[in-house]
Amino acid sequence: MSQEFDADVIVVGGGPVGVGALALLGRLGLTAIGFEKETEMWPTARAVHFDGEVMRVLQTLGIAEELAKVTKPMMTMHMQNEDREQLVSVPTGQLGSQGWHNDVTFHQPDVERLLRGVVEETADVELRCGVEVIHFQNLDEGVRVTVRETDGSQGVYTARWLIGADGAKSFVRRSLEIGADKYGEDARWVVVDGHLHDSPGYEDDMIFLLHHTRPAMWIRLPETRVRMEFMVMDDDHPDEIITPEAIERISYGVLPASKFDPERQAIYMFRGRIAKSWRQGNVFLAGDAAHLAPPCFGQGLCAGLRDIANLAWKLDLVKRGQADASILDTYESERKPHAKFWVEQAVTAAGFLQTTDAEAADRRDANIRANPMAAAPVSPPLGAGLHRGALDEQAGRLSVQPILTDDIRLDDTLDVRFVLAAQPEMYEQLDEALRARIEDSRDIVVLLDPTKNAQVLEASNALAAVVRPDRYIFGTASDKAQLQDLIEALPLADIQQKSASVFT
Ligand SMILES: Cc1cc2nc3c(=O)[nH]c(=O)nc-3n(C[C@H](O)[C@H](O)[C@H](O)COP(=O)(O)OP(=O)(O)OC[C@H]3O[C@@H](n4cnc5c(N)ncnc54)[C@H](O)[C@@H]3O)c2cc1C
Repeated sequence: MSQEFDADVIVVGGGPVGVGALALLGRLGLTAIGFEKETEMWPTARAVHFDGEVMRVLQTLGIAEELAKVTKPMMTMHMQNEDREQLVSVPTGQLGSQGWHNDVTFHQPDVERLLRGVVEETADVELRCGVEVIHFQNLDEGVRVTVRETDGSQGVYTARWLIGADGAKSFVRRSLEIGADKYGEDARWVVVDGHLHDSPGYEDDMIFLLHHTRPAMWIRLPETRVRMEFMVMDDDHPDEIITPEAIERISYGVLPASKFDPERQAIYMFRGRIAKSWRQGNVFLAGDAAHLAPPCFGQGLCAGLRDIANLAWKLDLVKRGQADASILDTYESERKPHAKFWVEQAVTAAGFLQTTDAEAADRRDANIRANPMAAAPVSPPLGAGLHRGALDEQAGRLSVQPILTDDIRLDDTLDVRFVLAAQPEMYEQLDEALRARIEDSRDIVVLLDPTKNAQVLEASNALAAVVRPDRYIFGTASDKAQLQDLIEALPLADIQQKSASVFT
C-alpha cells in the first residue's frame, strides 16, 4: 500500500464516540472519514449523564455554550430503600474542579446533534452515513477498509489508523477476534424516557431506588424530560412491562399514564465488559467497543469520550513526526485501568441496587449507612503511560480548570496543546536555548500569568506543572533540576531536538 492515504484516520461507527473522535481529530488538524451504517442518527437516548471532565472534553470542540443550553446540572442525589428511608444523600450540584458542574444530565440526541454539527463545520473530517464497513485489513503501514456504499456497491479506503467506535457488538473487535472479560452479572432493565407534564415526579434530580421488590432509578433531565429505569423481575411479561399502565404501576404512580408522555420504553441488558486488548496494529477500539458498564454511575459514554480525548492528540504527534509511534501503546495502558475502575464501581453499585432478597437488602442498607461515601466514587489517575506517574504522584491525574476573573474558563484561552504552567522565576531558570525551543514549538504553550495558573499550580502542589493536551498532568516540578528533567522527558521532538524515533 502506498503512503498516500485517503485519510489519516478511518472511524467505524457514527455514535457519540465515533462522531466525537471525528470532531476532535479535525480540531487537531488530522484528516478523518467516519462510516456509519445507519442513515439516520439514533433517535432515542441511552446516556443521560456526563461528568465535569467530559464537559471539559466537549468544551475543547468549541460547543460549550450550546452544550450548557441542552444540559442541566444535577443538584441533588440520594439513595432510598424499600421503606423510603434516605440512606445517603450524595453531594452534587457543585461547580467542580473541571470548571463545570460535576454532574449534568441531558437528552443524548441533543448532544449528538451538536457533535455532528462540529464535524460538518470542520474541514477535512466527514461522517458518511448509510455506509457499512464490511471488511478491513491491518497492514504494516496502515489499514485498508472495504465498505458497502449507500448504493450497494463496494468501496475501498485507506488510512494510517482505524478507530473501531462501533458499539457493544463491535464488528471491528469481533473481526480481530478480541474477547472481553465479564464483570458482574448481566441484568435486564426497562428503560423509560419521556416528558412528565403537570405532575411533580420525585423532588431530587437523581434517586437510586434500592427497593428490593423492584430496584429502580429516577433521573430528571432538562425541561420536562425524565428517565426511569426499572429492573425486570422474574415474573414480568416482557410485552406487558413496557406498557404505560405497567410503567404507572411499577413507578408507584410517579409516571402516571395520563401525565407521562413516553418517548421510549424498552428492555436493555445491563452488562459489565472490558475488551482484552484495545489495540491491534493500526487499529484501536474505543467506546462501547472497548468497554461496557451498567449505567449506575452514568459513566459508559463518559469513558468513551475519555478514550478519544486520550488517543487523538497522540495520533496527531505521531503523524507530525513529533513522537515515536510507540506512544500509541500508552492509549491502552493509560485508559484500560481507568475504564476498569468505573466498570467495577458500576458493577458493585449494580450489585447493591439489584438486591431482591429482603434480608440481604437490610444488610446492604446497614453497609451504606456505615460507608456513605462509597456511593460517590472519585475518578482515579490514568494507568502507567505517557506521564511521570512512577516519579510524581500528581502525574496521570486530571489538572483543574479554573474559571478566570472575567468568567472565562482557562482552557478557552489555550489551544489543545501541552501547557507548561510555572512561576515566572522557575521558568526563567531554564536554559535559554531550551526556553527558545519551548517558545518556538507549536506543541506547548507557556503559562506564566499567576491570574491564570495559580490554581493549577496550587492543585498540583508544585511550582511548575506540565499538562498534556487531554488536560491530564504529565508531571510537576518544584525546583530547576526537576523542571529541566520534566521538560527533557516530554515526547516532543522539537523540544528535544531529537528525531521522533528515539522516543521509546
Ligand atoms: C440505558 C442506558 C443508559 C446509559 N446511561 C449512560 C449515562 O448516563 N452516561 C454515560 O456516560 N453512558 C451511559 N450509557 C452508556 C452509553 O449510552 C454508551 O456508552 C454510548 O452510547 C456508546 O457510544 P458508542 O459511540 O461507543 O457506541 P454506539 O452509540 O453504540 O455507536 C456505535 C455505532 O456504530 C455503528 N456501526 C456498528 N457497526 C458498524 C459497521 N460495521 N459499519 C458502520 N457503522 C457501524 C452503529 O450503527 C452505531 O451507530 C447508558 C447506556 C444504556 C444502555
